[in-house]
Amino acid sequence: MRKQIAAANWKMNLSISEAETLLDQLMATDHHIAANQEAIYAVPAIYIPLATQKLAGRQNIYVAAQNCHSKSSGAYTGEISATMYASLGVKHIVLGHSERREYFNESDAFLAEKTDAVLAAASTPIFCCGEPLAIREAGNQNSYVETQLKNSLFHLTAEQITKVVIAYEPIWAIGTGKTASSEQAQEIHAYIRSVFATKYGQAIADQISILYGGSVKAANAKEIFSQPDVDGGLVGGASLIATEFAAIINALK
Ligand code: PEP
Repeated sequence: MRKQIAAANWKMNLSISEAETLLDQLMATDHHIAANQEAIYAVPAIYIPLATQKLAGRQNIYVAAQNCHSKSSGAYTGEISATMYASLGVKHIVLGHSERREYFNESDAFLAEKTDAVLAAASTPIFCCGEPLAIREAGNQNSYVETQLKNSLFHLTAEQITKVVIAYEPIWAIGTGKTASSEQAQEIHAYIRSVFATKYGQAIADQISILYGGSVKAANAKEIFSQPDVDGGLVGGASLIATEFAAIINALK
């Protein structure tokens, strides 16, 4: 069975003491992570040592970065590389979140380079894709997302692509309270899997975890995750509330 993943994206939120409280609450809140499941916490970079220490020794729980640079080292003031994260034991990195694409002009080509950098550090890219509202309203979401995937990931080998986690996040559903219906999520997740099947074969495509992101919360997670091609979620707002995120973990297949 593909890995089922609940990934928290804290974005640029919380003070260090609030982060510590949330991590303590999360660990104290009742949740169960089965052998085929993972909980991943993409915390602000400066809180990674704290999160690593708080989550140490827990099965199938990982601390992640929210971004990295495409180079492994050098004169890139303010940036952090995948190699540097790997040296801290951080082996999951979110790439191409729509906020980074929009506010930091991250292109498909740059994200292809970042994907290579993460894989070169023997780490897992959590690669985000997803369409804006106008594209969805025009019914062009499949081709829009397919282009993002082709431009950034299709240079990878079959072995490499199985190491990538995809997060489909319709931009109109991120932080808006609007969620794609479970049918809408299943439809495009199945399409994304078919795109990989065409390029790499069905057996490879069937190994790729495809997460849904966009206003996932405790109340809707079970319904969305129950869809056959939805392998969990990337969660923003609800991941900042321990009881919500614990319930989202418990909703994994
Ligand atoms: C996200 O930021 O990846 C996200 C899905 O946010 P939210 O859950 O708040 O919509």
